[in-house]
Amino acid sequence: RDEPALWVPDLEDVAAWWPQPRPGDDKYTRGVVGVATGSATYPGAALLSTAGALPGPAGMVRYAGAGFEAVRNRYPSVIPTACVADAGRVQAWTCGSGLGTDERAAGELRAVLAAEVPVCVDADGLTLLAEWGVDALRERPAATVLTPHDREFARLAGEEPGADRVTATLRLAARTGAVVLLKGDRTIIGTPDGRAYVNLTGTPALATAGTGDVLAGLLGSLLAAGLPADRATIAAAYAHGLAGRYAAESGPVTSVDVADALRPTLARAGMWR
Ligand code: AMP
Ligand code: MG
Repeated sequence: RDEPALWVPDLEDVAAWWPQPRPGDDKYTRGVVGVATGSATYPGAALLSTAGALPGPAGMVRYAGAGFEAVRNRYPSVIPTACVADAGRVQAWTCGSGLGTDERAAGELRAVLAAEVPVCVDADGLTLLAEWGVDALRERPAATVLTPHDREFARLAGEEPGADRVTATLRLAARTGAVVLLKGDRTIIGTPDGRAYVNLTGTPALATAGTGDVLAGLLGSLLAAGLPADRATIAAAYAHGLAGRYAAESGPVTSVDVADALRPTLARAGMWR
């Protein structure tokens, strides 16, 4: 059997794809991203995913969830509500980081998946999807991106990523119709039509709590700004990995440092022009 082709995205492509504000833009035309993350148990996830979304290309971040007071106190430009139903219009959602898996969390994820906009599902959202079964994702009216680490992938796919991570990723992408980002030292991105990419910009310094939440937020912003799901996922992984490297240049890295490094990283690397 042939090995699937594995593409390595390069900076030139990612920088060219990255949406730039144009003279006629306003905050809405740049895209509005909804962030449905965090819970009473994981209040930090609300802040980290919001921190990942803010430096992205969208013009507005709406936050919906249990962390709305924390988000309101920390990020004055973010519009906070307690639940997805009250959030108003968004062009894409990111959902699941630290969301919990209780009834409230399930209701929020259902609301997000029912919206006719692209959705990135991460973390506890993936645990809920694993319980519900992933095949229904095919019926979604807009793009879906799934961002599992190995354990989340195993629950979701019903198989360990195993030695052939590319084939496993592509299998889940084909089955769900979603773009799948399998995290690791080499992050694999698989598309439903069978293309596979490996992101090499990361660093083991990213192996620290909360960095995945930052990635999910950034990815949501790229989706809201109108990038197709495959490019949004590749671009988010690329920039997030670089931000991890830049952050690590000045010392040990926490997820807050990765989020803080996004702005200078985007400028240094030419995503912000
Ligand atoms: P999460 O497990 O959801 O917190 O996400 C962890 C993030 O850190 C993902 O973006 C991973 O790709 C990245 N990461 C974790 N471990 C490594 C590693 N050893 N090398 C490079 N990136 C890593
Ligand atoms: Mg995670």
